[in-house]
Amino acid sequence: MAVGQHRPTQLVIDCQALHANIQAEVSRLKADCELFMVVKANGYGHGAVQVAQVAKDAGATGFCVAILDEALELRAAGFNEPILVLGVTRPADAPLMAQSRISATVADLNWMREASRYLKLTVPNRPLNVHLGLDTGMGRIGFRTTAELQAALNFLGAEADDFNFEGIFTHFSTADDPDQAYFKQQVAKWQEMVAILPFRPRYVHVSNSATSLWHDACNGNMVRFGVAGYGLNPSGTAIPTTPYPLQPAMSLESELVYTKRLRAGESVSYGATYTAPTDEWVGTVPIGYADGYERRLQGFHVLVGGQFCEIIGRICMDQLMIRLPQNFVRGTRVTLVGRNGQRQITLQDVADYCDTIHYEIACGFTSRLPRRYV
Ligand code: PLP
Repeated sequence: MAVGQHRPTQLVIDCQALHANIQAEVSRLKADCELFMVVKANGYGHGAVQVAQVAKDAGATGFCVAILDEALELRAAGFNEPILVLGVTRPADAPLMAQSRISATVADLNWMREASRYLKLTVPNRPLNVHLGLDTGMGRIGFRTTAELQAALNFLGAEADDFNFEGIFTHFSTADDPDQAYFKQQVAKWQEMVAILPFRPRYVHVSNSATSLWHDACNGNMVRFGVAGYGLNPSGTAIPTTPYPLQPAMSLESELVYTKRLRAGESVSYGATYTAPTDEWVGTVPIGYADGYERRLQGFHVLVGGQFCEIIGRICMDQLMIRLPQNFVRGTRVTLVGRNGQRQITLQDVADYCDTIHYEIACGFTSRLPRRYV
C-alpha cells in the first residue's frame, strides 16, 4: 500500500512516552526478572522496529511477536535479542527459526514430532529454542493436562539435539478483570502443571501487562509486556489505577483541506444522512475508513482549535466531514486522537464509541498512514 507522505494525515508516535512506560515497568520488576516487549501487529500499530529500539533503550531484553515474519523483520533490522513467536508456527519453518535463533511456542507434541523431522533433515545439531505453552484456562493453544506436559517433557529429553527447552508459559484471560476468581483458578492450574517440571528452564513467564501491573507474577522471571508499554490501560477503564501513570504514545493528526458554508437544508456525504438544520461551517479532513478510521465513527468528534467538532454524514473511504464552530483556514490542525489545546481524545474514547477495545483501534490503523516519531 502506498504510504500517504503527501497528505497531511499521520500517526504521531511519542517515543519518550513509550520509553517512560517501559522503563517504569522495568524498574518495578524483581532483579532476576526480564521484560520482553510485545511488538506484534507492527507494535500494536506504532511501528515494530521503532518500538523495539525504544524498548531496548528502556531496558527490554527481548521481544515477543505473533508470527514468524514479525520475528524475521526484527532480525533483518539488526536486533540480536531473544525473540519468541507466541503463535503456532508451521513445523516446516522450524529450521528457519533455528537458524535465525527465533524461539518457537510449542502447543502440542505432534508439532514437535513433525518439526523434529525437518530439523534433522535441514539443520542437524542446531537446536530450536522452544517455550512450552500451557493452556490453564485461556482455551486458545497449549498443553492442557499434566499428562500431556509430561509427554512433551519426555520427548524434549529424548530429542535434545533438536530442541532446547528454553521456556514455559501460560496466558491469563481475565488478569484485567477486577473479579479475580477465574484468574485464581488459572494460577492454581499453572502451579499444578509446573510442579512436575524436573528443572526450571531459562524463562518462566505468565505475565502480560495486566498481570504484571496488578498481580503477583507467579514466580516468573520474564514478563511479556504489551499494551501498557504503549501507554494504554489493559483493562480499559475497569481498573482505573495503575502503579505509575501510563502515557499514551499514539496520536492521530490531520488538517482541514477544505471548508465551506453549508446552507440550512443542504446535505453531506453518501446517503445524504446528514442535513444541516441551520447555516453552518463544514470542514473536510483527508482520512477515512481505508486508513482504519472506522465508518462507525460517524457522529463522533475530532478536535479543531481546542474544540470538539462532530463528524457529520457518512465517513468515506478517504475523507470525512466535520461541523465547525466557525471558519478556520485551510491547513488548520485536526486532532483525531491526542491533545489539542486543553482537550484530549483518547484511543479509549474512540474504542468506547465503536464498542470495542483500544487494542483493536490502535492496530487497525493501516499502512497508508505514515508514522512520525517524535
Ligand atoms: N502474551 C501473549 C501470549 C499475548 O497473546 C499477548 C497479547 O495479546 C501478550 C502477552 C501481551 O498482552 P498485553 O498487550 O495485554 O500486555
